[in-house]
Amino acid sequence: MNDEQLLRYARHILLNEFGIEAQESILASHVLIIGAGGLGSPALAYLAASGVGRITIIDDDQVELSNLQRQIAHTTDRIGWDKVASAQVMANQLNPGVRVDPVVARLDDTSLAHWVQQVDLVLDCCDNFATRHAINRACVAARKPLISGAAIRFSGQISTYDLRQEQAPCYHCLFPEADDVEELRCATTGVLSPLLGMVGSAQASEALKVLGGFGEPLVGRLLSVDALTMNWHTVRFGRDPDCPVCANRCE
Ligand SMILES: [Zn+2]
Repeated sequence: MNDEQLLRYARHILLNEFGIEAQESILASHVLIIGAGGLGSPALAYLAASGVGRITIIDDDQVELSNLQRQIAHTTDRIGWDKVASAQVMANQLNPGVRVDPVVARLDDTSLAHWVQQVDLVLDCCDNFATRHAINRACVAARKPLISGAAIRFSGQISTYDLRQEQAPCYHCLFPEADDVEELRCATTGVLSPLLGMVGSAQASEALKVLGGFGEPLVGRLLSVDALTMNWHTVRFGRDPDCPVCANRCE
């Protein structure tokens, strides 16, 4: 680290659990963020400010007026921009030392495998079950740590799937894919704006812990928050031995 970096990241380096080694591994890391919306905005802001060396962010949407209530990477004067281009501007204003690669793309299994292979860690900041399961399949196959966040109405959830570990469950172990799952989306049901900040920031915290190798990530634990009561609670869950996605990953 040079003098500018030592100063920029001084408040991380001061933390005994964090220190200079964790900051250096974070600076050398490449993270993939899928979704530049309500969760991707705070996650990207905190990861860029924290010095994640390289961040690829993928989204195929453009900024609309109705996004601005919660998608704080974007600004009124950037309505109509690709969300990833707008997010890149925000991240580089916070920290020009971070390389942000914006990708305008709709993801399928093939393209996800391509992107996931290149990175150290994946943040699922998307808004639908089909993409969540596709991201999980790609992360299981490539054995990359996955941090998944979701928020709807006043309810948020976060968990970390460290798929490098033999006994760590995957997203499908916890949320089996079913045809009859009712999809709730912010576009139709509404969501409390700062809830996305809580969940996206928690995802960024988890990412720093996994990349920096400190603390106790939410592996095998689902953290839920109800913003109406501000109750936070954690439930433990294990690997499903019959999970069709990850059951054979040791072989
Ligand atoms: Zn599984």
